Amino acid sequence: MQVTGTVQGVGFRPHVYRLATGLGLSGFVVNEPAGVTIEVEGPPEALAALRRRLSAEAPRLAHIENITDRTIPVAGGEAFEILHSLATGPASVPISPDVATCESCSAEINDPAERRYRYPFTNCTDCGPRFTIITGIPYDRPNTTMRAFEMCAECRAEYDDPADRRFHAQPVACPRCGPELSLVRTAESGRSSGGGGIDPISSAAALLDQGGIVALKGLGGYHLLCDATDEAAVAELRRRKAREEKPLAVMAPSLEWAARLVDLSSDEAKVMGSWRRPIVLARRRPDAPIAAGVAPGNRYLGVMLCYTPLQQLLLEDFGRPLVATSGNLTDEPIAYRDEDARERLGGITDAFVTHNRAIHTRCDDSVVRVFRGAEYPIRRARGYAPEPLLLSARFERPVLGVGAELKHTFCLGFESRAVLSHHIGDLESYEAMTSFLEGLEHFERIYGVTPEIVAHDLHPDYLSTKWVEGLEGVERIGVQHHHAHIASCLADNGRDERVIGMALDGTGYGADGTLWGFEVLAADTSGFERLWKLRPMPLPGGAKAIREPWRLGAVYLEAAFGDHAFSLDLDFVRTTGGDWGPILQMAQRGINSPLASSAGRLFDAAAALCGARLRSAYEGQAAQELEQLADPSVTDAYDCSVAEGEIDGVELIAAAALDLAAGRHRSQVAAAFHNGVARALGRSAELARAATGLSTVALSGGTWQNLLLLERSTVALEGLGFEVLRHRRVPCNDGGISLGQAVVAAARARSQGSAKVRPWLTTSAKAR
Ligand SMILES: [Zn+2]
Ligand SMILES: [Zn+2]
Repeated sequence: MQVTGTVQGVGFRPHVYRLATGLGLSGFVVNEPAGVTIEVEGPPEALAALRRRLSAEAPRLAHIENITDRTIPVAGGEAFEILHSLATGPASVPISPDVATCESCSAEINDPAERRYRYPFTNCTDCGPRFTIITGIPYDRPNTTMRAFEMCAECRAEYDDPADRRFHAQPVACPRCGPELSLVRTAESGRSSGGGGIDPISSAAALLDQGGIVALKGLGGYHLLCDATDEAAVAELRRRKAREEKPLAVMAPSLEWAARLVDLSSDEAKVMGSWRRPIVLARRRPDAPIAAGVAPGNRYLGVMLCYTPLQQLLLEDFGRPLVATSGNLTDEPIAYRDEDARERLGGITDAFVTHNRAIHTRCDDSVVRVFRGAEYPIRRARGYAPEPLLLSARFERPVLGVGAELKHTFCLGFESRAVLSHHIGDLESYEAMTSFLEGLEHFERIYGVTPEIVAHDLHPDYLSTKWVEGLEGVERIGVQHHHAHIASCLADNGRDERVIGMALDGTGYGADGTLWGFEVLAADTSGFERLWKLRPMPLPGGAKAIREPWRLGAVYLEAAFGDHAFSLDLDFVRTTGGDWGPILQMAQRGINSPLASSAGRLFDAAAALCGARLRSAYEGQAAQELEQLADPSVTDAYDCSVAEGEIDGVELIAAAALDLAAGRHRSQVAAAFHNGVARALGRSAELARAATGLSTVALSGGTWQNLLLLERSTVALEGLGFEVLRHRRVPCNDGGISLGQAVVAAARARSQGSAKVRPWLTTSAKAR
């Protein structure tokens, strides 16, 4: 039998061993580059039972893609053995993501009778670091950052015993032979140790208790920690980190604690407690015992549970939630190398709790929301990457999707797998670019893949695009941003057919050189046609208009009411009307005012109007706050015309302005605006269906991080008889772009020459 999937480094061979010996079968099991091979002989019923139970009772981290079997001559063996890994070729065996501490290990470190009592690097076959410590293949200890530690006799005995839960657990360690913890105070730190003594964990807890800031080495990098209930400590962390408004994530000591902070549905609790341990964005409880400064003005809170023994011990000592934010200055990638961390975080933290097990690959925490009971990823990193996605179509040649710019990821496509990288960050800094290139080299090496086709965004100024321009010896394929979004949603759902794609996001480079961002496309992986778009509006000041939503408010109101806009009875007009003149002039004369059909800017205008936000400190802030402002009990929807290939957003804003002026509460206006966008999408989908015969809709683009819009649009579209595809494993935002690029490039390469002249590209263009 040959088993493919995530079957190495997850306790799969011991699983086979236990089943086979239990069933009285003889033969062997061995790791090979392509998966696990089992040769086994015995009575047919026992063989059938083995095959069935391989999947049914698989270890919790194993993911079986396929089992093939064939009959071979009987060898007449007596015993069942686990053989050593065979020499390697290119590894198509997926590498496991990092795994949160399992229940057995959690209990073990709290048991004074155990030799691993309070040992912060305890792990087993079911848990511990994987992706972040792997330096090469095959997945064996010498190819991890654990190679520096030689196992003691006791650990070796566990490692060699197929009946032990640490059998072939590569990072196995104990206080005698494994990594060691240390506490390093920074020179600037004037805080006393608080009598914590020599135990770094209790010292760190004491320091945090006094309002101090601690940098803690985790799986994929350093966290900055402070007491989440201490307003002054949180303010001090923000000041030192220069992170003025972005919400901070919280690490809770237990699920019970998490439930005191946020309203947790049973689905959200399940996701939060899963071995992947993402940050779950959930609604903050009004009585949450937490400092207001953790997520100012935000109705949501990002909460995660501990996922390493070190975190668990610290949180248990500390006894209440901690802020646990990425160890970086705002907008830089997370620090993960000790030297680098000292340098970059030394001015922020009072102490480092660190250790001598190196992190090979930087990896941030993942962030998810939960929609209709299922995970809806926002940031895909630790616990998820580099788990591959199985696609319906094969990559005939290896493909690299280099991603876009913000929330950058890259994607390697080979055979029928797409391996999406962990979240890299915003590709604007030297640090992030380095992280991208190092990550790419690492992936190419461990998967033994050299891309022959490289897919990139059309935006000429993205660093990723510029990097591709300098490559030689590869085929370069430019993929339009919103087409990539829709293709990524298709791939995420394992689909390949032509659909109505609704790509809503900030601004992306259009196929015609203008800015796009609210697009209804007829698309499959090889091509697309732009059926509908939002009426384009000028962005006075270009990038500045993105940071200052009030500019869009002014542009939209002027478009709706002309000079009468100035006399509308609105707070928004009273506060900003005096500044409109030069902005509107710029827009009218077309000076530094590119036209954009952008969903992000439409939501900005509505947010400004509703008083949610006039200036954004970070991308998407205004739209997020508008979503949170909206009263979900409101069911009426603003109307707008959907004709001539355009959805008229100006009418939506005009309706909102008139309602506000008439005294309707802004939370109701915000909701009716969301409902209006959903209704307009429903109508454009109906018209698209009439023109193309398509009845499946795919939703992608950063605007779909808005769950109220997602819910209202899904209901509207399903009510009209559409099948709705949304993201499940890959973010809808630009973190998913690289997957879409890879899939599109592969489809184009497959059907080279024919993609440009598909019949539907010409017929439906006229059918509005
Ligand atoms: Zn464990
Ligand atoms: Zn040991």
